Amino acid sequence: MSGDRNQQLFERAQQTIPGGVNSPVRAFRSVGGTPRFISRAQGPYFWDANGKRYIDYIGSWGPMIVGHTHPQVVAAMQAALERGLSYGAPTEAEVEMAEEIVRLVPSIEQVRLVSSGTEAAMSALRLARGAAGFKENGGKGRCKIVKFEGCYHGHADSLLVKAGSGLLTFGNPSSAGVPAEITQHTLVLDYNDPQQLEDAFKAHGDDIACVMVEPIAGNMNLVRATPEFLHTMRRLCTQYGAILAFDEVMTGFRVALGGAQSIYGIRPDLTVLGKVIGGGMPVAAFGGRKDVMQHLAPLGGVYQAGTLSGNPIAVACGMATLRLIQQEGFYDRLSAQTTRLVDGMTVAGRAAGLAFCGDAVGGMFGIYFAPQVPGTYAQIMDTDKNRFNRFFHAMLDRGVYLAPSAYEAGFVSAAHDPAVVDATVAAAREAFAQIAD
Ligand SMILES: *Cc1c(COP(=O)(O)O)cnc(C)c1O
Repeated sequence: MSGDRNQQLFERAQQTIPGGVNSPVRAFRSVGGTPRFISRAQGPYFWDANGKRYIDYIGSWGPMIVGHTHPQVVAAMQAALERGLSYGAPTEAEVEMAEEIVRLVPSIEQVRLVSSGTEAAMSALRLARGAAGFKENGGKGRCKIVKFEGCYHGHADSLLVKAGSGLLTFGNPSSAGVPAEITQHTLVLDYNDPQQLEDAFKAHGDDIACVMVEPIAGNMNLVRATPEFLHTMRRLCTQYGAILAFDEVMTGFRVALGGAQSIYGIRPDLTVLGKVIGGGMPVAAFGGRKDVMQHLAPLGGVYQAGTLSGNPIAVACGMATLRLIQQEGFYDRLSAQTTRLVDGMTVAGRAAGLAFCGDAVGGMFGIYFAPQVPGTYAQIMDTDKNRFNRFFHAMLDRGVYLAPSAYEAGFVSAAHDPAVVDATVAAAREAFAQIAD
């Protein structure tokens, strides 16, 4: 214990930081054990405070798609650093970034940059309420919103909601400190249940301002939406005049260059972005239909602002990342490695006699201790969490850092070459054997 710097730092951290961490999943509460304190990172690897190297499959929970400390990203940031850290006035670089986003995501006609996914989702929601209210109800305002169990849209009050007691009743707070009056306006439905969505619109359609969804869910492990689910959602939103907001904070530039919406061929009214567009720095965005975006201040009545929005260093990092992911064949290579990883692990898990499977989309993957790939929140909750926890630690011991929870997705970067992936699969083979009793 005395020589374990991670343990020492964790004990020290808990004196001054609640739980010792600045974001709860980092605390290893779900899997148990001591969080690793990271001291540096390079390519597909990071090193903890003991100097132990790990193959990194969280990639800062998504942003590090080109690998850690990519030389072109570092150089772009260094050049920006020398020109100043923040101005509180507009820059050419943020115009370029907006143009790049609008070019890459066709449903986004205008976009505003913010600093976190939480902020972007919260702002998109306010905008949707403002716009839907102005447009359809002569200023009376629609205020109901629909979200789905297992989807995460950051920690704004209206979105920290769990389902109410009855089907199609409005939600209850899922966090202390959130007034019930706020979550009363949020309807929480089951993911991948188009019939429930139909019923909800039949009952409340004229009051619904916005449906927000992760078009491929990545915050209950990885769960793909069925095409029917998303197409039903699009049709109902159009029919009733509600805003369809895709939260692509995780999937944007991660599952494909055009995000999940390009895979499903659906045009949402608003899109929320984050993670990859910052490349590891605090950049997020929300954008979509121009007529909707023009409700934002200073043009319209929906207020939204940010001292560090479009920060020049963060934008330099994000732009360098967006350039790298547009290189010829980037997503083909990324998908190939992610699939190689998931297929290799699945073969190894099955060979050990375990009910194990995986799924991958672009550079994002899910692994499940279950006989079949889950398609609903309930099926995710049914996977074998204890087995996952043992697997997680067996992998960590072997220098592979997976998401420290059975309910999170994993991430591969362009720096994860076949040799790195094969080393991971070899570690998994040993880990499965260890836990297969
Ligand atoms: C990570 C995430 C968020 C929140 O982003 P932060 O930058 O952590 O605030 C919102 N929505 C989705 C889908 C996410 O994955």
